[in-house]
Amino acid sequence: MLEKKAETFNMNRVIDDFDEMTRNADQVQKQTLKEILHKNKSAIYLRNFGINGDTTTDPEGDFKALVPLVTDSELEPYIKRMVDGDTSPILTGHPVPAISLSSGTSQGRPKFVPFTDELMENTLQLFRTAFAFRNREFPIDDNGRALQFIFSSKQYISTGGVPIGTATTNVYRNPNFKAGMRSIMSLCCSPDEVIFSPDVHQALYCHLLSGILFRDQVQYVFAPFAHGLVHAFRTFEHVWEEIVTDIKHGVLSSRITVPSVRSAMSKPITAPNPELEDTISDKCLSLSNWYGLIPALFPNAKYVYGIMTGSMEPYVKKLRHYAGDLPLVSHDYGSSEGWIAANVTPRLCPEEATFAVIPNLGYFEFLPVSETGEGEQEPVGLTEVKVGQEYEVVLTNYAGLYRYRLGDVVKIMSFYNKTPQLKFVCRRNLILSINIDKNTERDLQLSVESAAKRLSEEKIEVIDFSSHVDLSTEPGHYVIFWEISGETNEDVLQDCCNCLDKGFIDAGYMSSRKCKTIGALELRVLEKGTFKKIQEHFLGLGSSAGQFKMPRCVKPSNAKVLQILCENVVSRFFSTAFE
Ligand code: AMP
Repeated sequence: MLEKKAETFNMNRVIDDFDEMTRNADQVQKQTLKEILHKNKSAIYLRNFGINGDTTTDPEGDFKALVPLVTDSELEPYIKRMVDGDTSPILTGHPVPAISLSSGTSQGRPKFVPFTDELMENTLQLFRTAFAFRNREFPIDDNGRALQFIFSSKQYISTGGVPIGTATTNVYRNPNFKAGMRSIMSLCCSPDEVIFSPDVHQALYCHLLSGILFRDQVQYVFAPFAHGLVHAFRTFEHVWEEIVTDIKHGVLSSRITVPSVRSAMSKPITAPNPELEDTISDKCLSLSNWYGLIPALFPNAKYVYGIMTGSMEPYVKKLRHYAGDLPLVSHDYGSSEGWIAANVTPRLCPEEATFAVIPNLGYFEFLPVSETGEGEQEPVGLTEVKVGQEYEVVLTNYAGLYRYRLGDVVKIMSFYNKTPQLKFVCRRNLILSINIDKNTERDLQLSVESAAKRLSEEKIEVIDFSSHVDLSTEPGHYVIFWEISGETNEDVLQDCCNCLDKGFIDAGYMSSRKCKTIGALELRVLEKGTFKKIQEHFLGLGSSAGQFKMPRCVKPSNAKVLQILCENVVSRFFSTAFE
């Protein structure tokens, strides 16, 4: 595919187009579904359900009546055929150019999803839309740059010959990415080789160094997730003296060993610059506990941008500290499966952020989430949702996902013209998550099951268990509470603790443990009878004994239960599995 020429960006036109589209959200949805079904009319999946593209007078009605709601597990066999190189029209009319490795939604575990040129187009459309609204509130300079902490992991080729990478990798490697970024005045400070560096630590160092070298041009600072922003500036606290030494002498640190990165960085860092070294050193030394670091380093930055909602909320406090007076702007809402909604009210703080669904990115349905979690209801259309109600998002897109339950729960806050503005609430099935890790109740259960095998060698059972994400430590870590049926020695329990840690096989968890952005898992063994006390607590609140379910993950908001657990700890172990 050839790189497209950068389109000229016209802020008012993009906003007008969005306004027009959202005024007609209902018709746009119908039209989008029609186009999706037309493009993929030869797909075996659709044909199996009796959908024949253009031959119906009521595509929407037929589609809803004939095609079932699915989760990733139902689509897995179809996608596997595509990964294995079957080029027949399985889910899409034409073979897909790549597959994305998602960190997981509905099941909270990594999975493959198709990536197509339309998804790339959607990505650029969403970037343009969000940028137009941001730029209206916080205009940036034409010749500016963005300090973007972005990292592309490796793309590999499946045995069936299909390129596979994370969704962001597929986007960054797409030939149209750079032109798209240029058109919205968001060119990265770092050379491409840094983004594609096989070593993320070296890449982060070079992103920071490049940002400083372009400090007067930096218009905003970005990472996809707030966690990435906090991690970047925490790292800066440790490496800034090395960075300024590089600048002073005009020589790149010997820590950068990847040849492509060294060679690319020799362009921005050409000559000694003791003046810049002086300025940055003065700034760093004058800050109090690094408060306001970002505006001190980048005097022309207008805002800090990244996902700050959902599981990223715990990082907002630290980010505010680094950002000082700079506004924090929440990045948009989407997933590897496709983009969904843009932040068109960028002045709202992260706690208030909402996202307006873009009606031509896919065909959207919303499955009501009942408070009791009981009784499945029928999904409603994009324009039929009710303000104040929570729904699970159901997506149909150009890339072969039809009535696909995303597993995310959102709350409708208001309408922008006729399209809903929503707030991200949580992942439906996820219970343990600190940064990029995603573990469900089932993952916890599997981990406990595997560790309990070690215990059963001693003829002891796990009576009951629960978990908690402890963010009071830096970095945060998982705590697993166990009540066990007998006494055993400390070595056995230490083994169990390591086993629990290794039992979480989610790629995000394992990589975070390896690079220590998640701390050692902690096993806390409880006094006998603790879980009974918890049950009694719930019964006291009016739960029915028959329906009582042990909370498998205790949130800080559940203070009483956490207190019962913590008051009854008899011994604690920290995993050494990743040392
Ligand atoms: P992935 O499946 O790895 O692409 O991650 C996508 C998931 O990240 C979504 O399904 C959401 O659960 C979460 N996510 C994406 N955007 C946001 C956002 N703006 N706020 C909160 N969570 C988000």
